[in-house]
Amino acid sequence: MRKSPVDYKYIKYTVVGSIMCGILISSPLFGEAAKSLWKGHANSPKIALTFDDGPKPLYLRPILDILKKHDVQATFFVVAREAERYPRLIKRLISEGHEVGNHTYSHPRLDRIPTKDIEGEIKSASSSISKLTGKKVIYFRPPGGHYNKLISSVVRENQMITVFWSINAGDYTTFTSNPSKNGYITYYSKSEAQIYSDVVQKTVPGSIILFHSTKETIKALPRIIHAFKERGLEMATISTLRQNDIQ
Ligand SMILES: [Zn+2]
Repeated sequence: MRKSPVDYKYIKYTVVGSIMCGILISSPLFGEAAKSLWKGHANSPKIALTFDDGPKPLYLRPILDILKKHDVQATFFVVAREAERYPRLIKRLISEGHEVGNHTYSHPRLDRIPTKDIEGEIKSASSSISKLTGKKVIYFRPPGGHYNKLISSVVRENQMITVFWSINAGDYTTFTSNPSKNGYITYYSKSEAQIYSDVVQKTVPGSIILFHSTKETIKALPRIIHAFKERGLEMATISTLRQNDIQ
């Protein structure tokens, strides 16, 4: 029996997007800029769990409870405008040994806004986060991974390091729209089991893993942490990961 032919016309007009983080691509497009980090050293058992967006208390609190229970520290790239609404949650992040990074002030797509706005988004986020944490902000992650030379130079001028990821948990809602079918849109979210198997199978020593705070992430996280510990992988903040040299 023949398999159904692939509908290339459909694929041609298909647009894949994301609601959660505006991620239009599964990983950043290029490795420009010396001050960018994609992963840690492969000879070290250390890996880094990173969480983007928010803080959204409904999801972040259970995630912090899980990390605390398993004595795991992670890095949270927060949107400063949201962080200002939940100062106690940011203080909890710091008091439990986590690291807080800059994910801009209001989460715009930085490669589509004027230069002065790029500077404003990055600088005001660092200033705001720094006031909340009492620490200098060292790490930056661009919304959706969208990046260019201009953004890179602003990050460098502000003495920060851009942190991308080598593994994307894909734990956000994506949508597919097909203009040839009257803009018919389907929504898709990975299940807990899919998140677990994708992350655990792909992770190797030195991996930096991108998560978001979602209901399915909360369900998958304890099993993921358990699997990493079984394999002898040590979950650490980005700063701790960098202590073992940078690739
Ligand atoms: Zn984001």
